[in-house]
Amino acid sequence: MNAQQDPSLPPSGKSQGRVILVGAGPGDPKLITVAGLDALRQADVVVYDALANPRLLAEAKPGATLIDVGKRAKHHKMKQEDINDLLAAEAGKGRVVVRLKGGDPYLFGRGAEEAEHVARSGVAVTVLPGVTAGVAAPAAAGIPVTHRQIASTVTFVTGHEDPAKDQTSVDYRGLSLLIRAGGTACFYMGVGRIASIVEALTQHEVARDTPAAVVQWGTLPRQRSVRGTLATIASDLERAGLASPAIIVVGLTAGLDLPGLDFFTARPLFGQRIIVTRTRDQASQLREQLEALGADVLEAPTIEIRPPDSYRQVDAAINAIHADYDWLMLTSPNGVAALRERLDALNLDARCFAGLHIAAVGDATQDALRRELGLCADFVPEHFSAEAMAAELVEQHDLRDQRVLLLRADIARPQLVDLLKDAGAAVTDLSIYETHRVAKLSDEVAEALREASVDWVTFTSSSTARYFFELADEASLDVERVSLASIGPITTQTLRDLKRPPDVEASPHNIAGLIDALVRGAAG
Ligand code: SAH
Repeated sequence: MNAQQDPSLPPSGKSQGRVILVGAGPGDPKLITVAGLDALRQADVVVYDALANPRLLAEAKPGATLIDVGKRAKHHKMKQEDINDLLAAEAGKGRVVVRLKGGDPYLFGRGAEEAEHVARSGVAVTVLPGVTAGVAAPAAAGIPVTHRQIASTVTFVTGHEDPAKDQTSVDYRGLSLLIRAGGTACFYMGVGRIASIVEALTQHEVARDTPAAVVQWGTLPRQRSVRGTLATIASDLERAGLASPAIIVVGLTAGLDLPGLDFFTARPLFGQRIIVTRTRDQASQLREQLEALGADVLEAPTIEIRPPDSYRQVDAAINAIHADYDWLMLTSPNGVAALRERLDALNLDARCFAGLHIAAVGDATQDALRRELGLCADFVPEHFSAEAMAAELVEQHDLRDQRVLLLRADIARPQLVDLLKDAGAAVTDLSIYETHRVAKLSDEVAEALREASVDWVTFTSSSTARYFFELADEASLDVERVSLASIGPITTQTLRDLKRPPDVEASPHNIAGLIDALVRGAAG
């Protein structure tokens, strides 16, 4: 290495533009590889397909260009040659281009053509393999594609070409020999031609009672599958209403029903479609936990958080916090996040709270305090109604002549302030953020309610409950048949007032309790 060269700079003269073909995995966004995710996070440009889970796009860095070249059978969004040119051209401008493709980039995704074209244009290309649907979808339906005792080969086959019309380059004779010896065949893109595929196999003497299975949307919460034999699978598929994207599995492994291998579909919330109504920031934690239990979660933010018109009073209070206050009280994680932002803006840090007493309403608020500011609250109430909370606080701390700074949303409940004053405290009550109802429900949520595919709606506050039903009414969406889950008594009362009493209520009144209630509700 040249001694004068700075290793952090790109090698002199050469453009850093390159193309990375990244396998996005079969559907579940967690099934991308670590290397794939790294590349995605570094990309300047992401060129993605219909089958790459759109949630992965949220991993791209802010400002990255996202280009949808998604193709669905028949209506091609962008011609293959144009995609090839696009990749080379973007990388030619010195950009890191990630080509995000469903499953593995080289398995039936025309990845080889793209890589070849890019390399021929003189642009560096890297390929990061992915978990392919032909292995992952059967696995999630309880089917291992090889098995020491019965299946020693697995063949990935394109079903895109029609065997009936002699338009296929697939050697059905050779394939049939493998299946007859116990091997597994996984057909991609074959749903529309399943009858021809069955026909071609049986013509080559694959027994009609050979096990077969179809797995649609494998590894995703909406996964569905059917099992049968070569003789029945086409009608099984039709009866079940399965469609693309699906893998057709043929061979003895498709008949395996091994104990415990139904782990994916056996999860307690598998198949349940749940709308989560919170602000977008808060929803992701609940969403992740519900998804881990198998639920299909739709986020329906009903509230947006906005800064107040002016931070003048809040900033003045923070600047004088030492001289003017004995207690700081926060009532929500949003309040903590807003406080953190003000500290940053004022060029202060958590040291300015030294010596102050801190109260955090709710475990989530306490967690946020610890995370955002490294602060541990002196008081976290066990009960959340204003009365119970004030009673607890007074019991544990003498509030006489204490100066309390309460930083909260604009729609906080006024009782709390009155009760603190009754206990002798001087309360300065400032709103550090505002909550506003969103203009409408997202298209995805509206569509799901319209097609009556939703099983549950969860409510974690009175305002989300009120807003959700307002928004649904305004869009004439029917929520009658959907079950409702409430986080606790206050939200439950609001739902009752709205003439929509909840089907389950969380106990304890927190996210863990809410999830428990849903699991019990789904089982019952
Ligand atoms: N490169 C991809 C395959 C692209 S071809 C891979 O390695 O998985 C597209 C076909 O893949 C679909 O027609 C379907 O047969 C299959 N496929 C992709 N995702 C799937 C999923 N989640 N479940 C079942 N099949 C899927």
